[in-house]
Amino acid sequence: MTAGTAPAATAARPGGPGLPQERRLVTEIPGPRSRELHARRAAAVAAGCTSALPVYVAAAGGGVLVDVDGNSLIDLGAGIAVVNVGNSHPGVTSAVAEQAAAFTHTCFTVSPYEGYVAVCEALNRLTPGAHEKRSVLFNSGAEAVENAVKIARAATGRQAVVVFEHAYHGRTNLTMALTAKSVPYKHSFGPFAPEVYRVPMSYPFRDGGRSGQRAAAEAISRIDKEIGAGSVAAVVVEPIQGEGGFVVPAPGFLPALAEFCRGTGIVFVADEIQTGFARTGDLFACEHEGVVPDLVTTAKGIAGGMPMSAVTGRAEIVDAVHAGGLGGTYAGNPVACAAALAAIAAVEELDLPARARAIGDVMLPRLREMAGRHPLIGDVRGRGAMLAVELVQPGTLEPDPGATAAVNAFCHARGVLTLTAGTYGNVLRFLPPLVMPEHLLLEALDVLEEAFASLRAGTAPTGAASPEAGPVLD
Ligand SMILES: *Cc1c(COP(=O)(O)O)cnc(C)c1O
Repeated sequence: MTAGTAPAATAARPGGPGLPQERRLVTEIPGPRSRELHARRAAAVAAGCTSALPVYVAAAGGGVLVDVDGNSLIDLGAGIAVVNVGNSHPGVTSAVAEQAAAFTHTCFTVSPYEGYVAVCEALNRLTPGAHEKRSVLFNSGAEAVENAVKIARAATGRQAVVVFEHAYHGRTNLTMALTAKSVPYKHSFGPFAPEVYRVPMSYPFRDGGRSGQRAAAEAISRIDKEIGAGSVAAVVVEPIQGEGGFVVPAPGFLPALAEFCRGTGIVFVADEIQTGFARTGDLFACEHEGVVPDLVTTAKGIAGGMPMSAVTGRAEIVDAVHAGGLGGTYAGNPVACAAALAAIAAVEELDLPARARAIGDVMLPRLREMAGRHPLIGDVRGRGAMLAVELVQPGTLEPDPGATAAVNAFCHARGVLTLTAGTYGNVLRFLPPLVMPEHLLLEALDVLEEAFASLRAGTAPTGAASPEAGPVLD
């Protein structure tokens, strides 16, 4: 297909796993149709809302995105860990169509429907711990985190919320306060919500390889001495940090924190919005160390791309909120519920935790090999299909965001959608859909290898492939 014969972006395009699973470039990236749309966008869309790779999508499924110019790109982003079951998964699309034909909205807090209840039952069954649980549904991850804090405050009668360095919890006012990084998330948007306290994270690459116990002891001491455990409603932590750079805490860190919370009446909230639904090789990342959170926030991978989020947790904590205290017009929308039930069924039927582990088994050795050849790669980390490399000036901890942007741009120009992350903008993160065919995964790794080699040879483009690309988000 050439650019001249590509159908209009608005024409019906077959998506889903039926798309040819191939990397195929028929124009430069972005192509002429994408550039056209990008010019239209500049005159219509808020400038503050940018895109990591401005190729405009016409269809997506399996491991590929097909753009309006007919290019087929390998997707290592999955819409930021959302389409774990693949884009346009047939179970999800038919569930959506069927529910949309029946009814699209009533507002659960006005007149309820079964799908909402069924999603809550599924979440109560699947999240860590065999205790009695309750769930409540929302639209976005940030909204789930906000409501977890509301629930924890109502249940404890306390106000303080403890979060970690490099944390990312969203862009609403309260979650901006919980999020660590200023540009682009918080800069110029204050004042922020009060009673939010940040303590050190376990970050083995940057904290001298402290043990999880030592790192937890430091965080706990800060909570005890500077905030007062008795004032703390919730400790909110990502079991593996997402936007902060795929920081995997040292073993023992999360269990020690959870135990401290248990002993002090603090609600331990695991923000599994990016790590959840099989991404890390377990259904939820907390399971890796047998950690049972009091509350779990979920979103991204929950509904195959439809907007949906949830808070799930101990019945006595969730039900401490007064009647009518939780809700929202669209929260738990029936179409999103149908999608969630189908996506959850696919996660279980396809055994996506095993698929995530298999992706890790393919990628981690290759990334480690690359790190051996390219001293720019200071750290290789992650679990399952949530993997990253951190780029530094060789032999130091000095972040190299320039090289990171160059490698990222090289991959984009060659038809591999990679994302960056990290407080210092120096982390390349890999989040393939869990249904990614292995041949595409290997091909993407070859392109990544070429990217590092070209950087060494000084031939990498300096962001030319994505001239107006914005910072990578969420
Ligand atoms: C993406 C993300 C959020 C925010 O989710 P939105 O749906 O973008 O509001 C919160 N926490 C974590 C860990 C995330 O990755």
